[in-house]
Amino acid sequence: MAEPDQSQTPESSRLRIRRWILIITFLLIPVTIFYISPIVIMMGASEGIVTGSFLLYIILFVLSLFAGRIWCGWLCPMGACQEIGSPLIKKTVKEGWPNWIKYGITVLWIAAIARAFLAAGGMKGIDPLYGTVYGVSISSVQVLMIVVMIFAGIFIVAFLTGRRGFCHILCPIAGIMVAGRKIGNFLGLSTLHLSAAADRCIDCMTCSEKCPMGLDVHSMVRSGKMECPDCILCATCADVCPEGVIRYSTKGKKFPD
Ligand code: SF4
Ligand code: SF4
Repeated sequence: MAEPDQSQTPESSRLRIRRWILIITFLLIPVTIFYISPIVIMMGASEGIVTGSFLLYIILFVLSLFAGRIWCGWLCPMGACQEIGSPLIKKTVKEGWPNWIKYGITVLWIAAIARAFLAAGGMKGIDPLYGTVYGVSISSVQVLMIVVMIFAGIFIVAFLTGRRGFCHILCPIAGIMVAGRKIGNFLGLSTLHLSAAADRCIDCMTCSEKCPMGLDVHSMVRSGKMECPDCILCATCADVCPEGVIRYSTKGKKFPD
């Protein structure tokens, strides 16, 4: 049987669009990094200032109630950095205790932010542009060098541990979004998720090979459990599946025939 021409499907357009979004989000780091940085939020807290990154994390938490880790899959520059370098990363992160480290980091990070605000005498003001110069994050060679070193560190973690290893093991933002996902599911909200028609699966394993998080997507399809805390809802598995087995879906919606 002739292979379907995936280049003509809307799904593969989505794959290309996501790649370009990740490249653009990476190139915008000199402007945007202070609005995303988990470190800048602590610097602001130590002065009692609610920064742009603080506001962003509140938005991301609310987003995660309905769309899980979609930020990680489509917009995060730290994720983009790891995916752009992914041709150099052959390993995948195995399931196990290292995947739990990020939750501990999230708890410690939130506690440190709260402590910094308390030490500063509470929240004294809101400054979405905190730390930037006219809204631009990288405004000196010193800041540039620090940011380059941080992103090099993120990539080295992925290189040593496996695909998107920083997202799997160390990212404090992941913990916030996984918590939001669990709460959204608990409350029965209509959440974006993956659904699969396992009877169409031909066990080609392409979904598992191409998953940027290195998840065993094929087993998820076969077991009927498409919900996974480390799924970033990037839809790569849906876009590369030759049989159209996997789809974005919302809770309660049946897989289309
Ligand atoms: S399971 Fe699919 S949607 Fe989730 S991270 Fe892997 S490729 Fe992306
Ligand atoms: S890519 Fe599609 S057909 Fe191949 S194993 Fe995954 S779900 Fe099954």
